[in-house]
Amino acid sequence: MAPVALITGGSRGIGRGIALALARIGHNLVINFAGNETAARQTATDCVTAAEELGKTICAEICQADIALATGREKLVEFTREKFGRLNVLVNNAGIAPEVRADLLDVSEASFDRLLAVNARGPFFLTQLIAKWMIEQNRVDASPSDRRFKIITITSISAYTASVNRGDYCVSKAALAMLTPLFAARLAADGILVYEIRPGVIATDMTAGVKEKYDRLIADGLTPIPRWGQPDDVGKAVAAIAQDLLPFSTGEVINVDGGFHLRRL
Ligand code: NAP
Repeated sequence: MAPVALITGGSRGIGRGIALALARIGHNLVINFAGNETAARQTATDCVTAAEELGKTICAEICQADIALATGREKLVEFTREKFGRLNVLVNNAGIAPEVRADLLDVSEASFDRLLAVNARGPFFLTQLIAKWMIEQNRVDASPSDRRFKIITITSISAYTASVNRGDYCVSKAALAMLTPLFAARLAADGILVYEIRPGVIATDMTAGVKEKYDRLIADGLTPIPRWGQPDDVGKAVAAIAQDLLPFSTGEVINVDGGFHLRRL
């Protein structure tokens, strides 16, 4: 049976790029979204078409759930169990930016709590739920190809880059970056490999409002590879992991940032 992948926030942007990349390598999909059902349906349709164009038949389901809520996370797991009976790849992608880019001295507790809830607490406890289910799946008498499990978390260069006009976002991503070493260490013996993908500046709705600013920064040499990242750049990295191309690595951070992280002189 084809592997099954769950992508949180798979309706738009980077999550959509990941869904398309996984569809092209023949994964069945659960595409999670928060509120934009139209975008989620479109992505599901486009994923089926993208697979078909390569001669593959996949099934792409959509599931509304707020990952910040325990009920939302449980709904996602139950939905995936019901539709497919198993899960091979979890991609923790859903995330939000602050509603206002406030100076560090003005960040509100409400914004801080919301960002931590969606960007860090949600993925942590979803991973906990899914990890238990993957361990359970690994114990049952399944074929070796069914017993391949990956957990991939999309963080950000903001996990280590100080942006004083969105400190709450930076703290949430720094917290999220600890998820991968923790779960990698805990789950390796159960055959579950865990990775972090750390994107740089990627063209999505999230960055649409700051397009001119980043156009200028990129033109001025922000990244050694002088262009915006695209959702497909992240999708390809996820597909490489999902295809088992990093079988003796776990807990790795894969920078998909055009070289932003390099120290240069
Ligand atoms: P985006 O275009 O704003 O899309 C966000 C996605 O997350 C949408 O699918 C949205 O669903 C979903 N979502 C938001 N809150 C959710 C919740 N509480 N529960 C479930 N789903 C939720 O963002 P993006 O730029 O693709 O970012 C995706 C991830 O990459 C985020 O974690 C972001 O922090 C990270 N990232 C982005 C960049 C960048 O430059 N764009 C760089 C580094 C890291 P709806 O469609 O229903 O609203």
